[in-house]
Amino acid sequence: MANIALTGDRPTGRLHIGHYAGSLKERVAIQNSGAVDELFIMIADTQALTDNAGNPQKVRDNIIEVILDYISAGIDLDKTTIFIQSEVRALPEITTYYMNLVTLPRLLRNPTVKAEIAYRGFDSDTKGVPVGFANYPISQAADITAFNANRIPVGDDQLPMIEQTREIVRAFNNQYNTDCLVMPDAVLPKNNVCKRLPGIDGSLKMSKSLGNAIYLADTSEEVKKKIFSMYTDPNHIRVEDPGKVEGNVVFTYLDAFSTDEHFKRFYPEFNNLDELKKAYEHGGIGDMKIKTFLYNVMEDILTPIRERRKEYEKKIELIFDYIKKGNEKANKVADETLGKIRKAMGIDYFTDDTFVKEQIEKYN
Ligand code: ATP
Ligand code: MG
Repeated sequence: MANIALTGDRPTGRLHIGHYAGSLKERVAIQNSGAVDELFIMIADTQALTDNAGNPQKVRDNIIEVILDYISAGIDLDKTTIFIQSEVRALPEITTYYMNLVTLPRLLRNPTVKAEIAYRGFDSDTKGVPVGFANYPISQAADITAFNANRIPVGDDQLPMIEQTREIVRAFNNQYNTDCLVMPDAVLPKNNVCKRLPGIDGSLKMSKSLGNAIYLADTSEEVKKKIFSMYTDPNHIRVEDPGKVEGNVVFTYLDAFSTDEHFKRFYPEFNNLDELKKAYEHGGIGDMKIKTFLYNVMEDILTPIRERRKEYEKKIELIFDYIKKGNEKANKVADETLGKIRKAMGIDYFTDDTFVKEQIEKYN
């Protein structure tokens, strides 16, 4: 069986270091190692519209921003297929059929959807939630299965979506006695803190919708300002005070991004993060020191991304030529899957003459 990876992002804003740590870095690695036969990346504009119905302009404007972030971070348009969700007409049709396989209580039990309902500004009772929003895990199942994807590199907020997709695959294949849908698995980052990177305000998740992110395209000055305003340990007041590492976002980010090599180059007093943590807990390390180190680490990662972005910003037309080709390819694959789905369900009435013959016979 072919190994096919699929992921996507909502074009609701530029991508941040949480996306990078949670998924984008893994995608680039998958792409370059040849670990999969095919990598699809979907710009999830249809999904973004489920909670931005009144602001299609925001979604429209962010398509190129997200694509620029991908390619600046190392996604290669010659190796990876990027396409736009709403351009693939088979997806809403597949979604419609899957909707019959999921109960309403099951849908509303989804913990990520529940959390998102709470912070997206819908009314607190479900009356204010658009049907399309509550339904997005089903539409995500359509996205994944349409491309026969078996590997889905995501952050852990997406696990309930993959679980929902797996249930749908099982239900569909059982119900229609077929094996046409491929069972997907989430691919989580190995590093625990990357599974859900917290925001610079210490909140549970860095998110484009929460205004707590360091963006891949932030300028050096913006990154500096954000890092130096970050919350550390409120009881670590004087340099000689013992400091807490747990729950200290600066250390969480160092856990996510720093390497021993970074210590050699930017903080040679220590060989690695464990040593720095011990010293910080003991006392004698000021917050300015750890923030400066984090800033150097982030700059080391972000500078090349930022520089590549400058170059790609001059090639928008060429980029969209690739996206158009990506849309074509995505349509071809999704149409094929849709054909299989309709056949399995017995609603492929006119692909051959069986159906018409049956109906004629009924009246003979
Ligand atoms: P929004 O607030 O609009 O939902 P988002 O920041 O959550 O935006 P998405 O487009 O929903 O971004 O997520 C895209 C991918 O990035 C998903 O695989 C998700 O798991 C991953 N991701 C998003 N935020 C983080 C994070 N803070 N840590 C790790 N992974 C993340
Ligand atoms: Mg999200």
